Amino acid sequence: MGTRRSDANGSRPRVLVLGGGFGGIGAARKLGKSPVDVVLVDQHDYHTFQPLLYQLATGLLEQPAVGHAIRDLFHGQDNARIHQDRVVAVDFDAREARFEELEPQPYDYLVLALGAEVNFFGVEGAAEHSFPLYTLRDAVRLKNHVLERWEAADRKPELAEDGALDIVVVGGGPTGVETAGALAELYNGLLRKDYPAMPEGAGRIVLVEASPEIFSMFKPNLRTYAEKALVERGVEVRTGDVVKSITPERVTLTSGTVLPAHTLVWGAGLQGNALVRSLGLELEKGNRLGVDAELRLASHPEVFVVGDIAAIPDAKTEQVLPQLGSVALQSGEHAGETIARLVAGKETKPFKYRDKGTMATIGRGAAVVQMLGGKTMKGKKAQLAWGTVHLALLPTNEDRAKAVVDWAGAALTHQRTGRIRVET
Ligand SMILES: Cc1cc2nc3c(=O)[nH]c(=O)nc-3n(C[C@H](O)[C@H](O)[C@H](O)COP(=O)(O)OP(=O)(O)OC[C@H]3O[C@@H](n4cnc5c(N)ncnc54)[C@H](O)[C@@H]3O)c2cc1C
Repeated sequence: MGTRRSDANGSRPRVLVLGGGFGGIGAARKLGKSPVDVVLVDQHDYHTFQPLLYQLATGLLEQPAVGHAIRDLFHGQDNARIHQDRVVAVDFDAREARFEELEPQPYDYLVLALGAEVNFFGVEGAAEHSFPLYTLRDAVRLKNHVLERWEAADRKPELAEDGALDIVVVGGGPTGVETAGALAELYNGLLRKDYPAMPEGAGRIVLVEASPEIFSMFKPNLRTYAEKALVERGVEVRTGDVVKSITPERVTLTSGTVLPAHTLVWGAGLQGNALVRSLGLELEKGNRLGVDAELRLASHPEVFVVGDIAAIPDAKTEQVLPQLGSVALQSGEHAGETIARLVAGKETKPFKYRDKGTMATIGRGAAVVQMLGGKTMKGKKAQLAWGTVHLALLPTNEDRAKAVVDWAGAALTHQRTGRIRVET
């Protein structure tokens, strides 16, 4: 592959990394010791730890525990430059990316790590009135809205009868289940104490899932366990029904049921980042980009695609790997290592995913884990495994220490210090 000499002194290959999520950070960090110039661009100045967004939305964690300054992550890496901007186009022939403000950035190697975004599947009113949970802003917006509804109902009790405190969560996958479970614990714990005048039982949480069961990606024993754990926490699980339309105060299902609820959390679907649709490439299921065994585009071998935006086949099973933090981190790291090997004139190796399991928490002491080989775990043991895997994904040791302190504090005191609204 030809290498363009595009750095300031004309001697080092230039690696452009688009996206500062697990995939992008993993790739850029693995190039720290390589004789290349790394440029990483993200639309935000922070890296978002999506697996903990539901904990931010329910006041268990505060903003800095879920968002980490990207520049901070590269203080020790002299060959990396960070920019905050939105990428708007990639020209594979010219080998450059274009941005809203930044001048076009040329590359010798490109790492596409732009992640996925919410898919509303065209449901009427979903884009305007629902609360997705995919970004840090989404989590803060959901928390503020829920707390605002409790304040409003406290001032005007008839609002509670109109559904001000009721929440419909759409989607029986990990995002929907984790959020419903966490909201139920927030409601049954602190909010009832915060608002003693609210009638007993006010505030319904309903989880709606189109399939006959929640957690379709897990084995039947874990599905049954998760549903029971949700019901024990007071969540109503409604399967085999689909959200048809949403207004700010009502949710209509295809069965004809109308649920009065002033909050609808959208956890029902993802698709590849919008930018992929402009690349002129064939897209796979969920608008993801197909890659070869080394995570490159077949048509442009200098372009690596990692994380949620990529359809990565598992080396053993050949099935497309799930959109998980550990897949994103490992694939990003592999792309960084492969570029370093190419620059050093070494042989490259195919990507092999080391399975950390697919997992989700339903609430305190309740979690499920399933390994690619089919082994399963549930309950406290699974929650411990969840904690270990997610601590490893956090970008720094300080973040890990902070999360442990916050989780231990919440487990001991049941406090949620983040449950305040800060006006902006
Ligand atoms: C609510 C939720 C819970 C989850 N829970 C878990 C879990 O428990 N365990 C687990 O393993 N995984 C979990 N996941 C999945 C995991 O978070 C993702 O698989 C992972 O974040 C994907 O990493 P990525 O680097 O591919 O993309 P992302 O983390 O999405 O990063 C993409 C980056 O690209 C940036 N970007 C996007 N578009 C542009 C643009 N046009 N210009 C510039 N920058 C742009 C974004 O700002 C972002 O920083 C969860 C996801 C969600 C949403």
